[in-house]
Amino acid sequence: MSKPKSHKSAFSLAPVQFRDSAIEGRGVFARKRFAPGDVITPYAPRQRRLTVDDPEATLAAETKFTLVSEDVWVIVPDTSVPGGWLCNHSCAPNAAIYSDGPGRIQCERPIQPGQEVTIFYGWVTLNEPKRDPCRCGAKACRGYINFDLSDEDAHHCESDTPQGRAFRERFQDYADYLASIGQEQVLDGIATKLAQLRARLRQAP
Ligand SMILES: [Zn+2]
Repeated sequence: MSKPKSHKSAFSLAPVQFRDSAIEGRGVFARKRFAPGDVITPYAPRQRRLTVDDPEATLAAETKFTLVSEDVWVIVPDTSVPGGWLCNHSCAPNAAIYSDGPGRIQCERPIQPGQEVTIFYGWVTLNEPKRDPCRCGAKACRGYINFDLSDEDAHHCESDTPQGRAFRERFQDYADYLASIGQEQVLDGIATKLAQLRARLRQAP
């Protein structure tokens, strides 16, 4: 017989609460005030670490909850235990995810008790422009969580064609937006995926 799981009692003064969110599924909610720089919650109180070249890590990445840490590790949360991995995306996030060490959610803008703690995901998709509709409710919501790269984008991105110009305009607009929320590093991920897509297209018969 397995031992019952131990859970914190309801009256403990946990800094956050995990409950249903209007954005999606369960979310993370503040139970106290947080100021910029405060650590809000660990990314995953219970987790496994795999090396980035582990095939299991690639498989786990498809669940979207994995976190690459220090370019070497992939943190895979045990999703039977709530943690920062439950944070919803917002186009105007009040917190950010830090992937060094065991990973954590840190406050970026003042958060009041009862407010949902949100982060920016920065997902880049390939040929799936409408994969992740966003329901964050921010005034400046961009409509979709993901930034999509299509074969056509890769084909035209450096050309003086209407498609090429449209892509560069969309890319610049996203770059400006990322800068406004301090997430410029997402551009590196987009550049890498774009280069991979272009290489693949060149190899295609
Ligand atoms: Zn949004």
